Amino acid sequence: MGKILDYDEMNEILDGLDNKVIKKEKPIGYTYFGYPIDHYVYGHGKYHVIITGGTHSAELISNVFVIRFMEKLSKGEIKIDENYTLHFIPIVNPEGTIIVTSAIRSLISRDISLEEEQTYCLTYYRNSYIEGVYADKYGDRNYKLQQMMFRGATPLILDDKHYRLKEYLIDLFDKNNLPQGCMINWSSNGRGVDLNANIEYSSFINKVSNGEEMYAKLHLNNIRRDKLGPLGCPYFQKGKIERENEALLKFYNEIKSKYNYIGSFIYHSCGDIVYYLGEAKEKNPWINLTKDDESRNFEVAKTYADNAGYKLDGLEIYTTMDSKLKSLFPVTLLIELGSVRATPLSQFMDLDIGGDDAFRCVYSKIISNNIKAIIRTLEVMVKVYEKKF
Ligand SMILES: [Zn+2]
Repeated sequence: MGKILDYDEMNEILDGLDNKVIKKEKPIGYTYFGYPIDHYVYGHGKYHVIITGGTHSAELISNVFVIRFMEKLSKGEIKIDENYTLHFIPIVNPEGTIIVTSAIRSLISRDISLEEEQTYCLTYYRNSYIEGVYADKYGDRNYKLQQMMFRGATPLILDDKHYRLKEYLIDLFDKNNLPQGCMINWSSNGRGVDLNANIEYSSFINKVSNGEEMYAKLHLNNIRRDKLGPLGCPYFQKGKIERENEALLKFYNEIKSKYNYIGSFIYHSCGDIVYYLGEAKEKNPWINLTKDDESRNFEVAKTYADNAGYKLDGLEIYTTMDSKLKSLFPVTLLIELGSVRATPLSQFMDLDIGGDDAFRCVYSKIISNNIKAIIRTLEVMVKVYEKKF
C-alpha cells in the first residue's frame, strides 16, 4: 500500500482496526446517495474530543492523517491517557472522497512502487505550480496541466457499485459543462455542494442566486464556484443544509449535551496553519465571545501550533460551516495540514532531498508533527475546560 489511500483502502484499514481499542459505532448519518458517515471511538475517559477529516475531499491528506493516527492507536504504538474519549469521523464527505480517489486511481494504480508514487506527486505539484504562474500572469482559464494529468477521469470511471452517484455526475458534468479532468480537484459532496460553504451565512448565497459568475483562484481558475461542481458552491437548493452538515451538527450537539466535551480538531489542507476563534472582526451570528473565551481558544490553539510548528490565525469571518462549529462548540481548532499547496497529491510528497526545508519529507512531517501536537493539546484542552490556567 502506498501513502495515497483510496476510499476502499481507507475502509479496509478502518475495518482492520482492533475493535477492543477502537470501536465502530453506528454512523452519524447518511449522505444523499446513501453512504454512511462512519464514527469510531477510542477510550472511555470522561473528557470527550471530536476529530474529523475530509470535509473537503480533495484535501485527502486530512483523511489519511486521521486514519493513520487511528491505526497507531489501534496497534498500541501511541497511547492516550485514560482521561479521554476520542470520537473519530475520518471521512466526513464519503461521496467526495469516492470521486477524488477514483480520479487518482484512473492514473496512479494501487500496486506501483513508492518511488513512482512520489514522481506522480511531484509532477502534480509542479504542474499546479506552473498553472498558478499562468493564472497570475495571464489570467487564462484554459486547460490546466494538473487536470490534464487526469483527463481520463470522467464520471464513467466510477465503479458501477456507485451507480446512483455515477449517473448524477454524468448529468452534472454535461449540464454545468465542468472542465475535463476536474474530478481530481473534487472537494464538494456528490451533489456538487461545498460542505464548508453550505451554511446559512455563506457570503456566496446571494451572489449565486443573482447568477454572478465566480471562479476559483490560481491553478483552479477554470472552476466556477457559483455552479454545482468540484468546489465552492454553497447550496443545492437555496436555504437547504446538506445531510453531511446536518449529521455533523446533530452529532456535536449530542456529544456536548451528554458528556464533558472539551474540544475538537477539524482537519483541512493546506497551509501549516491553526485557525481558532479569536477576536471578532465582525459580529458573530451565533455567540458573543467573552475575553475569557478568547484567551481559552488562544491558549489551546497556541499549544497546537507550537508543537506542530504551524502558524496561528484567530481571524474569523462567519461564512463557513467550520466557523459555526468553532462558535458553537468551543474549543474547536481548524488545522490546515502541510505547507505545500495543490491538493490532493502534493501533501504525499516525501522526498528527503532539496535545499528548501518546506519540501523535505512533507508527508512524514505532517503525520508525526500533528500526532505530537494532538497529544500535547489534549492536556491543555482539559486545563482550559476546568478553567485552571
Ligand atoms: Zn478545506
